[in-house]
Amino acid sequence: MDKVYLTWWQVDRAIFSLADELRKNFVPDVIVGVARGGLIPAVRLSHILGDLEVKVIDVKFYKDIEERMEKPVITIPLHGSLEGKKVVIVDDVSDTGKTLEVVIEEVKKAGAEEVKVACLSMKPWTKVVPDFYVFRTDKWIVFPWEEFPVVVRE
Ligand code: 5GP
Repeated sequence: MDKVYLTWWQVDRAIFSLADELRKNFVPDVIVGVARGGLIPAVRLSHILGDLEVKVIDVKFYKDIEERMEKPVITIPLHGSLEGKKVVIVDDVSDTGKTLEVVIEEVKKAGAEEVKVACLSMKPWTKVVPDFYVFRTDKWIVFPWEEFPVVVRE
């Protein structure tokens, strides 16, 4: 699969653009960050939007770029109640959309009054089109936090 590489600068601009959209359309009480890819955007959004509460859920689905498990498995469940809260779920990318499907269900089960999804990117074939997103690509995206220079020491 072809890959596309995003820089920190591009990602940060994208997060600010998501923040603008949220300010205009949906001011959440709580951000639910999907580990691991959604955590950096979730924390950054929380600071930009005025220190919003961040909750974490971890869902495992991918073993490798093109190898998925049968279905997404929640490895860290949501902690506490979301009763009556407006919640935005933040992830890096909606690919098949199966992870977000599971997370949306969990957030609703926790009592959220309204739920929206914000992602940096989406794939054209996803079954969960985020309410807010910035990039749309059919390539495998490499985020800046996934890359590191190889340092060889003697
Ligand atoms: P989905 O359940 O939508 O197929 O995939 C959700 C998760 O898989 C994403 O949150 C992300 O962690 C990982 N993923 C899917 N596609 C990509 C991609 O193109 N690049 C990266 N870095 N992760 C991806």
